[in-house]
Parts: sequence; C-alpha cells; structure tokens
Amino acid sequence: MELPIYLDHSATTPVAPAVLAEMLPYFTERYGNSSALYGVGMAAREGVEQARERLADALNAAPDEIVFTSGGTESDNMALRGAAEANPLRRHILTSPIEHHAVLEPLERLQHLGYNLEFLPVDSDGRVDPDEVEQRLRSDTLLVSVMHANNEIGTVQDITSIGTLCREREVLFHTDAVQSFGKLPIDVRKMRIDLLSLSGHKLYAPKGVGALYVRRGVTLARFMEGGEQERGRRGGTLNVPGIVGLGEATKLAHEQINSESERLTELREWFFERLTATIDGVRICGSRLNRMPNNIHFCLKGVQGEPILLALDAAGICASAGSACAAGSTEPSHVLRAIGVSRDIARGALRLTMGSSTDRAGLQYTLETLAINVCNLRQLSGELQAVV
Ligand code: PLP
Repeated sequence: MELPIYLDHSATTPVAPAVLAEMLPYFTERYGNSSALYGVGMAAREGVEQARERLADALNAAPDEIVFTSGGTESDNMALRGAAEANPLRRHILTSPIEHHAVLEPLERLQHLGYNLEFLPVDSDGRVDPDEVEQRLRSDTLLVSVMHANNEIGTVQDITSIGTLCREREVLFHTDAVQSFGKLPIDVRKMRIDLLSLSGHKLYAPKGVGALYVRRGVTLARFMEGGEQERGRRGGTLNVPGIVGLGEATKLAHEQINSESERLTELREWFFERLTATIDGVRICGSRLNRMPNNIHFCLKGVQGEPILLALDAAGICASAGSACAAGSTEPSHVLRAIGVSRDIARGALRLTMGSSTDRAGLQYTLETLAINVCNLRQLSGELQAVV
C-alpha cells in the first residue's frame, strides 16, 4: 500500500518504529504482571517505572504524581469526577465552551447531579481571558478546567496565568494537554497545574494508554475500583507495553521538542500564506499567534468540507473536517460555534494537522489538490444554483 500524505496527526499518530522496538520485549519476554514479585514481573515493573520517570521529567513533576490510564478520555474523567467526589462541599465549576467532549460530558453529568457549571467566554480566536476566570472564581468553586491546546483550531491558552489565579484562590486547576504534551514545553510547577491529562496516541505511542498528572496533596476519589495498582488510585492490571511505549515516545518527543516546533511552525505559516494567496474566500480559524505549531484550520466559503475530504482522500491525502470525534456529523462543531463562525461557513471547515512525516512537498501537493477541487465544487454549485 502506498503511504498516504497523512495530515491528521491530531486525530492519531502512527507508532514510531523506535517506540515499537522498545515495546516488543514487553509482549513476549518481560510479559509478567507488574505487581508480581518474581523476575518477569519485576522486569515489567522496571519498564513501567522508567516510563513514569520519563513522563515526570517531561512535566517537571515527581514520578509518584503520574497515574497511568487508558488514554485522554479516562484521564479527563478521572480528574473531573474524582475531584468532585473528593470535595463534596464545593459545587461550582468553571470551564470553556471549546473543551473536548471528554471534558464536557463528565462536567455535564456533574451538572445533572446538581453542580453549578459555568462557561467562560472565549474570544473569536478561542482564547480564554484570565481576567474572566478571576472575576468568576467563588468561595465554593471546586475546579477550573481549561484545555492547554484546542484539538480543532489549535489555539493555545494562557495556562500559567489561569493556574496562578487558581492557586492563589485555592481552587483546583485541571488542564487537558492531550494535544500539547510532547509538542509544547509544559512545566506543571511553573504553570501551577494540579491535574493534567495526556494521551499516548497523539505522540507516536499506541492507542489506549495515557496518564493523569495529580499534584501531591490533591485528593481524588478512586475512579476505577479494583486492585491496588497505581498506589490505589486506579485499579486494573497495567498495560505494560503501552506504558513503556508512552515513556519512550515522551523521551523522543522531548529530545526534539524545540526543533520540531520550529520546523512545523515554519511549514504552517508557509502553508497559510500560500493558501490565502491561491484560494479566495478562506477564513483561518484560531489564533495566529498562540497556536499549535502543527495545526492548520480554515473554512472555505461556498463549499462543504465533506466532498473536499473525499477528493483529498482520492488523491491520497488524509485530512479532517474538524475533530475526529465530530467526523460524520453534519452539525458545525461546538468549537466553531463558540468562536462565532456562522453555520454556513462552518460547513466548509478543514483541519490539516502535521507531524513528523510532513514536508513542504506534501503540503504543496495538498494545496494544489485543494485549489483544483475547490474551484470545481464552487463552479458546480454555481451551475446548480443557476439551474434552480
Ligand atoms: N482531549 C483532547 C483535547 C483530545 O484531542 C482527545 C482526542 O482526540 C482526547 C481528549 C481523548 O483522548 P483519547 O483518544 O486518548 O481518549
């Protein structure tokens, strides 16, 4: 099979060959249960603990502050529901309207249980103003949950300011860093983060593994009942190969975090410049300044995303109309609605998310394919309108 031009790295990434190589012995040789006391169990445990140290190093955290999970969704659920259950007297929660469903859904569930869920306003770039957080913090605020980087439009939030405000007011601060971990530097101490969610499959580790950073001193109710794994914080036999893969992917990502961020930012700006020069009626979504290096998101006026995606696929290009979770839906995404993009324009949304395989030649080909198809589709819809 000829490899496609893969521009959907925010949906998932391939497992890096070095990550796979690191994982393989943990399927067949070091296969023991990491809780066991004999040799193969201890070998598995060593792999897990090395991974824990690697994650802790990357976040400037301590190893005992890392809890391994099955991915970003579980980490978000564990943080939010665990914090609510552990602090029953605080009933007010602040979040943004552009969070991933893995945050919105558990928070809406808490709302049904009587919690007071309040949405912070976002500007037309999707940014939360820390002053708005300050004004809304209350004596009964349980937690603030604001994502580090948005999965659709790539906007990056001022996490340090929000975290500092929360710490001053003794309010828990959770951030979903699923899209940013391994791509943007994160220092949980400097950024005053209490809880942070991350996921392996966005950074060349396998699907089904992730972690939650829980600052020492923060109490969460047990989310997954069962054995005493993860210091009693999450029951269940550990996914040792997945965790080892996440550790290796974390190490590799952080070795090149600055150079890769620079390379992708340059490609992103190069693409945006050519895109707006080549195709009329393009609206770039998200912040130009505070943006994920790998995120290209725009709406094409007068065309729908779906036929464009099909045309790109036929040309060997994998792209997305928004978040992977919204794929297949004809409704404009909640993120685009929150930043004020009209329903009509949102229908032409396209997200290209770059990664290690992305180069200028692939982007040039994507742009040319896009230009031809947008032109054809606009012409067709003009002809159809003339007939009707
Ligand atoms: N949070 C964000 C911002 C995401 O982009 C995703 C996945 O796309 C998730 C959470 C869920 O992560 P996972 O797929 O590991 O459950």
